[in-house]
Amino acid sequence: MSYDDVEIEDMEWSDELQAFTYPCPCGDLFQITKEDLRAGEEIARCPSCSLYITVIYNAEDFSFDDHKNNMPPPQKPITVA
Ligand SMILES: [Zn+2]
Repeated sequence: MSYDDVEIEDMEWSDELQAFTYPCPCGDLFQITKEDLRAGEEIARCPSCSLYITVIYNAEDFSFDDHKNNMPPPQKPITVA
């Protein structure tokens, strides 16, 4: 059982840790990196205790590096006058 479910929007990006963070009740921070998210990881762990949270996010938001999701523009039929 995770301690809580937290949306990625409610987490805070830390340049220092290079990870999304969320306050842990123990005083430390739950942490999850973009690499974790891209890999499909959804558990952010606290390094100081055994608690963890489930991160709610849209995987597509973090998969742009690996899977280019560029849909080709729809071909419009050329109208010949
Ligand atoms: Zn903790």
